[in-house]
Amino acid sequence: MSDSVFRNYIAGEWVEGSKGSVANISPADTSDVIGHYAQADKVQTEAAIAAAQEGQKEWQKSGLEQRYSVLMAIGDELIARKDELGEILAREEGKTLAEGVGETYRSGQFFHYYAAEVLRQMGETADSVRPGIEIETRREPVGVVGIITPWNFPTATGAWKIAPALAFGNAIVWKPANQVPASAWALTEIISRQNLPAGTFNLVMGPGAEVGDVLINSRDINALTFTGSLETGRKVAAATAVNLVKCQLEMGSKNALVVLDDADLENAVECAVGGAYGGTGQKCTASSRLIVTEGIHDRFVEAMVERMKKLVVGHPLKAGVHIGAVADARQMEQNLEYLELAKKEGGNLVYGGEVLNEETEGYFMQPALFTETTNAMTINRDEAFAPIACVIKVKDYDEALATLNDTNFGLTGGICTQSLKHASDFKRNAKTGCVMVNLPTAGTDYHVPFGGRKDSSFGPREQGTYAKEFYTVVKTTYISA
Ligand code: NAD
Repeated sequence: MSDSVFRNYIAGEWVEGSKGSVANISPADTSDVIGHYAQADKVQTEAAIAAAQEGQKEWQKSGLEQRYSVLMAIGDELIARKDELGEILAREEGKTLAEGVGETYRSGQFFHYYAAEVLRQMGETADSVRPGIEIETRREPVGVVGIITPWNFPTATGAWKIAPALAFGNAIVWKPANQVPASAWALTEIISRQNLPAGTFNLVMGPGAEVGDVLINSRDINALTFTGSLETGRKVAAATAVNLVKCQLEMGSKNALVVLDDADLENAVECAVGGAYGGTGQKCTASSRLIVTEGIHDRFVEAMVERMKKLVVGHPLKAGVHIGAVADARQMEQNLEYLELAKKEGGNLVYGGEVLNEETEGYFMQPALFTETTNAMTINRDEAFAPIACVIKVKDYDEALATLNDTNFGLTGGICTQSLKHASDFKRNAKTGCVMVNLPTAGTDYHVPFGGRKDSSFGPREQGTYAKEFYTVVKTTYISA
């Protein structure tokens, strides 16, 4: 596989990258070259947009039965091949095999869900205020959708955007993150065998600063959906605003899990460990802040350390491994910088943080836990995207809630408590898009809306029935018989 060049997919054809190709190297084993992936330039990206405009004209005329069948077939194949594709995902991203397989399975579920949504596209009718006139409102495809995705969920972020885009009759130009093209290419290969008009789906691999830049500045795209960092998200918002292109942004966060005195300690520890270190801490929903009330603080920290001793870090494909590799050298460097900064700021490292040497040359890090941190420290303000969690000790529930909300971000927020009063209050007053009670902050369903507040999200919600706000436009028709 390593000698092959995996090409871009434009106008129903596999095409060489106009800027050659790049090697896709596993962060868990730098001698493991997954393949070479085509790189597009400005002209090739523009060609993909032009192809999508043509494809969209045909796809919007497709019957619902055709759309349903296409989406079901993609979902079926992702699920049937979850082990094989999950392994590629784990190799290129560094997450564990179980996480890679789970993500592939979940991606199939997104296609199945939107296959069913295809058949639920109902409009509304109304009588006019004027006699003899009827009104109907219906949703139409938004048109050509540009999709830009990050490296941490290479298949799932693509799936939860591509599935609704196709379901509602749109054409797509997808630019995946350049670190993880193999999963995007594999999904594209499945899509390429479906009954879709040429140009309906296009894959352009390449750097954000070139391929992404063309997409966000294009006047020929009707809507741009982006998942990634806040810094890039701001550029996307600014560029699309100039052309009045509809945009949707899902960005970073600095999520917190609150643990109250009356929490079930064992469950709180499981929520904290899963939420903070799952996916090597590289989740937008990760709880890197652990806000703990003083009555349970010492017991919680002690139980966390005992639990963390059981976490096995290693090659993602090795049996028994709980935490895979850090995504790349740059991310590893950043993790270690944040670790040093946390110490410098006065944090007390009670467990982990070591760089680990495994049998393969890769980026492995022992998950770290700090105590004695405050919410004002940089480590508790910035999204580190690392397997580093910080305990912030607070007096009571009120201080815990205020601390949780004291951040520029607002994707998810969690609480562990057996008090209905506090859980109910938290549910209403956490300034986050998703709230978890006695559950980890990471781990969401596929049939309900997903998104955040403040600097975490911008524009209409993703997923569930809410996705139609972004992927369609409403038309109001007046009819005089
Ligand atoms: P990133 O912003 O560096 O890159 C995201 C995508 O944007 C990539 O495809 C990249 O190539 C592209 N890009 C980069 N510069 C660009 C430019 N100038 N113009 C257009 N496109 C450009 O983010 P990342 O490091 O890949 O992903 C990590 C971030 O994603 C974290 O902040 C994480 O929280 C966030 N994330 C959010 C969610 C969510 O749903 N809220 C989900 C997953 C990840």
